Amino acid sequence: MIIVLKQQATDIQKDRIRSFLKERGFKVKEIVGKEDTVIGAVGAKRIDIREVEILDGVASVIPISKPYKLASRELKKEDTIVQVGNVKIGGNRIAVMAGPCAVESRDQILSIAAKVREAGAVILRGGAFKPRTSPYSFQGLGEEGLKYLKEAGEKFGMPVTTEVVSTADVEMMKDYIDMYQIGARNMQNFELLKAVGHTGMPVLLKRGLCATIEEWLMAAEYLMANGTEQVVLCERGIRTFERATRNTLDCSAIPVVQKLTHLPVIGDPSHATGLRDMVAPMSLAIVASGASGLIVEVHDHPEKALSDGPQSLYPDQFEKLMRDIQALGPVVGKSLERIPRIIPASLGSSAPAASEEMMAGPLTIAFQGEFGAFSELAVRRVFDESSVALPCKKFSDVFESVMDGTAAYGVVPVENTLGGTINDTLDLLNSHPGIEVVGEQQVRIIHNLIALPGAEFEKITKVYSHPQGLAQCSEFLETQMPWAQAMPFFDTAGAVAFVKNQGDPTLAAIAGAPAAKCYSMEILREGIETNPRNYTRFYVISREERAAAFRSAAPVDRASLVFSVGDQPGALFAVLEILSKHGLNMKKLESRPIPGKPWEYSFFVETELGKDGAFEQALGQLKTACTSIRVLGTFTAAH
Ligand code: PEP
Ligand code: MN
Repeated sequence: MIIVLKQQATDIQKDRIRSFLKERGFKVKEIVGKEDTVIGAVGAKRIDIREVEILDGVASVIPISKPYKLASRELKKEDTIVQVGNVKIGGNRIAVMAGPCAVESRDQILSIAAKVREAGAVILRGGAFKPRTSPYSFQGLGEEGLKYLKEAGEKFGMPVTTEVVSTADVEMMKDYIDMYQIGARNMQNFELLKAVGHTGMPVLLKRGLCATIEEWLMAAEYLMANGTEQVVLCERGIRTFERATRNTLDCSAIPVVQKLTHLPVIGDPSHATGLRDMVAPMSLAIVASGASGLIVEVHDHPEKALSDGPQSLYPDQFEKLMRDIQALGPVVGKSLERIPRIIPASLGSSAPAASEEMMAGPLTIAFQGEFGAFSELAVRRVFDESSVALPCKKFSDVFESVMDGTAAYGVVPVENTLGGTINDTLDLLNSHPGIEVVGEQQVRIIHNLIALPGAEFEKITKVYSHPQGLAQCSEFLETQMPWAQAMPFFDTAGAVAFVKNQGDPTLAAIAGAPAAKCYSMEILREGIETNPRNYTRFYVISREERAAAFRSAAPVDRASLVFSVGDQPGALFAVLEILSKHGLNMKKLESRPIPGKPWEYSFFVETELGKDGAFEQALGQLKTACTSIRVLGTFTAAH
């Protein structure tokens, strides 16, 4: 059952509630949520809930209807974020685990670890104990394999996961790995689940070959009831009548499971299909289904692999897949989980330290708008849950709070696919030489019609939003609710707050879903924008001293520059020619008037960095071709 505490419940009252429940044989667990604090009580015994309801400090008692309790979304509404080493799984991240089916030799795992890491995988996989259909097939290297796996993980800064097949190995494996994997064949090996659960360590729980979703969640419950909270579920295909693929990937299980449990769920396209050609499209399907990650088999020479060669990707196929996942991420509101980049010179010696500060303490991140704004969503995509978002009235306030150190970073929109460049941001970058662009994030803009809870669509008379929001939904407003009046407002989330404060059920606002949630308002109509291909690109900005820490989180591949040229024929052409000669692919060119100099312009360029120091070489020449030039920053393009 779930005991919802009164907001003003004291520590003494909470202690009394806990001891009352423990005396009656319940296991108790306190969960502090954003909205309220609850105590989950799980046990075999039955109790009249009225006995709990009358305790001091209790607001209400809700029985958990599902047979799995600790794993249930009823008990914990917010997503669980599983931490494996320095990698987080869950929430709005896509964590990709990759590596060979089995560790075959030290050289093999070291070589493939380097490649999957470079492509962007964050956890290394590799089996040391292989549950094979035939007793004559390769069974894995055992403890020796674990040693090689650990060495490769440490060398490339990746946590490692591997399958445990026997209770006898659980203790021994503990020191070699960061996450246990329970294989499909062992999903209902309850003794193994208990032993692994006891370690309290993260566990990747594969779905059994013939397991229903409920059986799978009950297996997770076994792990949790025995002591671990860190469970990641993995859909890896189920056995059906269909033999064209090794198994049948059950993508629909992903959203179903996410409704039922707070635990993250990932997908395994390799075992689900058994065929290399199917792995990339099914990986994208898994991501599109809303999964928090993937586990993919990759091998340097799949044709020589000792197990699962036909389903293993070649490294270059994996690299392409990672780029595709990165592009798909923003469509489903997620981005690839990254870990600090390894600078080749530091390989094997010291771990990269630059971004440790960024990973550790709570940071303040400034954005323009009210809570619930799309800019806040961009902040949440880039930074950890622990960071604090700081709403600012104007774009210039974002820049100022970064300059004076109130905020460590700022997130500002730079371009919208329908509305074009946000000139304010370019002008502020130009006028703040102490600020650098360090990162980029894309957010898909989905507009909703939002009103007070219980408001009726037909009775809405006025719709408030930022003029861009109103314009982007004009077709809906004109055809679906021609009687309503469009009311321009200074920002979308602010319009929701305004409607809430008015308390008038005939008013509505157009804004994103986070704004509705933030102000406890109701979405009357979802996705009302005329053109769904509506994305905004944001820059992450910081002062120079923070820039290196942020950038080390991923390889940089893009630069943003601002320059001006003399007033003579061919001046701009000369600059563009330098970019072209160095093979630099220009991604954006924009001109802005220079304040105080009528009819003179600065040019903003975004360019790829090219190969073998091409950008640095070009920069040397650009300095002579321009009257002024500044690199606004280098960053990892969101693609
Ligand atoms: C594996 O990951 O190599 C494996 C054996 O997976 P599954 O248990 O899903 O078959
Ligand atoms: Mn395998």
